[in-house]
Amino acid sequence: MGGHWFTEKQTENFGITIKINRTLHTEQTEFQKLDMVETEEWGNMLLLDGMVMTSQVDEFVYHEMVAHVPLFTHPNPENVLVVGGGDGGVIREIMKHPGVKKATLVDIDGKVIEYSKKYLPEIAGELENERVEVKVGDGFMHIAESNNEYDVIMVDSTEPVGPAVNLFSKGFYAGISKALKEDGIFVAQSDNPWFTPDLIRNVQRDVREIFPITRLYTANIPTYPSGLWTFTLGSKKYDPLEVSEDRFHEIETKYYTKELHKAAFVLPKFVADLIK
Ligand code: SAM
Repeated sequence: MGGHWFTEKQTENFGITIKINRTLHTEQTEFQKLDMVETEEWGNMLLLDGMVMTSQVDEFVYHEMVAHVPLFTHPNPENVLVVGGGDGGVIREIMKHPGVKKATLVDIDGKVIEYSKKYLPEIAGELENERVEVKVGDGFMHIAESNNEYDVIMVDSTEPVGPAVNLFSKGFYAGISKALKEDGIFVAQSDNPWFTPDLIRNVQRDVREIFPITRLYTANIPTYPSGLWTFTLGSKKYDPLEVSEDRFHEIETKYYTKELHKAAFVLPKFVADLIK
């Protein structure tokens, strides 16, 4: 690829089209097609299997909303796990919480980590933090082998194709519940309501059967299909809508605020109807 328009198709008839200035790296890894490209509007961008994973310009929205909503909901998150997330953006946000003693990242594809460090350094930089342990392996297996360990688990996975299929299964959510401590919280990206309503419905149904508190929240991410993204949160004890004001401490963000923490759970009616 180079100097041309790239389209990520959402349906047979609709897609997002982005002008690519040049390709920085392209490779078929053991798990997926990896492209690191330079774009005009969005800076460097990571594509996996032809889908936009992150861009230097709008990455902050996704990474802040994955990390800070559960971390401010839990009163004392010390041990955190990220499944996927090899670009390092979620880890960077977790590291803004001084109370977190350890964050483990398990991504199946070491190449994502390697090329994110090279071409997305401001996203991946905190992967070197001494509070972070990076493991290359299957998140599903890691969860299956973990018991009563984590305060918060964040699933920053690709769409449910290829290596991530198992990460959208009820068995995986049951494993997450087992891997969490008795007051643990988990969050997973759950795609968009325009083109994947069934996915959101199914994830919510499965998570509700396992977690007493299940919520859906949204964020605006321009380079993702439809721009309206959802996140599913499952919690054993703490409700993200009942976080007291004194819980919030100052951190530097560009999207997340303590007001947005609650506002993000206010859903447009057609989205709320999906998960009734
Ligand atoms: N934020 C993006 C989105 O919503 O489109 C996804 C970010 S990308 C870093 C997701 C990562 O999940 C990829 O690096 C991929 O290698 C990883 N992944 C996919 N399946 C996985 C699995 N079974 N275990 C661990 N990581 C996995």
